[in-house]
Amino acid sequence: MEQPNLSLYLHIPFCRHRCAYCDFNTYTSLMDLREAYADALVTEMAQVAGGVRRPVHTVFLGGGTPSLMPAAALERILDGVRANFQLADDAELSMEANPGTVDLEYLTAVRQAGINRLSFGVQSVIQSELALLEREHDFATVVEAVAMARQAGLTDFNLDLIYGVPGQTLQSWEQSVRAVLDLDPTHLSLYCLTIEPGTPMQRWLLNGRIQPPDPDLAADQYELACTLLAERGYDHYEISNWAKPGFACEHNLTYWRNGEYLGLGAGAHGHAAGVRYQIVKQPRVYLRRLEEADAPGYPLSTAVAASHSVSRAEAISDTMMTQLRLLNEGLDLADFQTQFGQSVTEIYNGTLDQMLDWEMVMVQDGRLRLTQKGWFLSNQVFYRFMLDDA
Ligand code: SF4
Repeated sequence: MEQPNLSLYLHIPFCRHRCAYCDFNTYTSLMDLREAYADALVTEMAQVAGGVRRPVHTVFLGGGTPSLMPAAALERILDGVRANFQLADDAELSMEANPGTVDLEYLTAVRQAGINRLSFGVQSVIQSELALLEREHDFATVVEAVAMARQAGLTDFNLDLIYGVPGQTLQSWEQSVRAVLDLDPTHLSLYCLTIEPGTPMQRWLLNGRIQPPDPDLAADQYELACTLLAERGYDHYEISNWAKPGFACEHNLTYWRNGEYLGLGAGAHGHAAGVRYQIVKQPRVYLRRLEEADAPGYPLSTAVAASHSVSRAEAISDTMMTQLRLLNEGLDLADFQTQFGQSVTEIYNGTLDQMLDWEMVMVQDGRLRLTQKGWFLSNQVFYRFMLDDA
């Protein structure tokens, strides 16, 4: 049987400081574990691969702050990937980086280790917004980091921005978007702030220090960004992502095509061989668990916290929800029927008609896509395409 071309997600759960809105699996007091953690990641790769070097076409180091990993540790991790998987010659190797954590020497070393794409967390160029988010950098640091990345030969890079920030206006958002466009990134990710339970920001909301984000303003901000980025030639290929032609993020396309990926590292999620799973979250527990023998077998390691076989209903729901995120590509109706033995119309009949009537989705060239109206209300559309027993 032909091996699927896999993507690898490697989670690096370390940050210097926790941002006010962050509920990611990251820790600010475990920096001394970084070297042991790099070795554990390689152990986990060996357990999962089990001696079979499966083909891999993308690797993504996310976090946390992967750029806090020493360059030599990063090199060991990527050597581990090459030893345990068949890494394609033209593989995309991405790494998230925080602007204040890198210098030219570091970026040159990570480039030499094989990283060929960076993603910088910028979030805003306005100092008061960065302060509210409790980001550690200012915009001058971003400009400097981007210049150093270019100097190191890392010319393919994404910049992240956040809209819907309390106190942010349409004007200040426009300033952020225009400023990052002037840095000429190959890719932009624009996310709407969600205030997550247990974060400082949620406390501030509850005690009245900040006002809840205004959804109408957030919609205007999104619409403005769509216009500004289209004017500069960026392709709006996913609800929250834009790229210059040829620079879509291959790794994230695996998620949005509901493809197979291995998640390694504390708290990572994976989806391969008909199984969805999650790795234990706490890095110390992760290290301990990887000392155990008798891995359960592909795609699981001894650090797995939970796993389940994907049911047909779940696979169908996931396919709808991920592929509809791709605004141009959408969902290929013939492929869907081949994969599931039934058409989208047969499975969703009334729901599909309603979504078409409400102009949330459209059918064009054999593909089901979100309409522009559907972009703004995508979560409501996805909710309706979830099957009951998923
Ligand atoms: S840098 Fe990212 S992962 Fe780290 S605390 Fe901030 S938002 Fe969370």
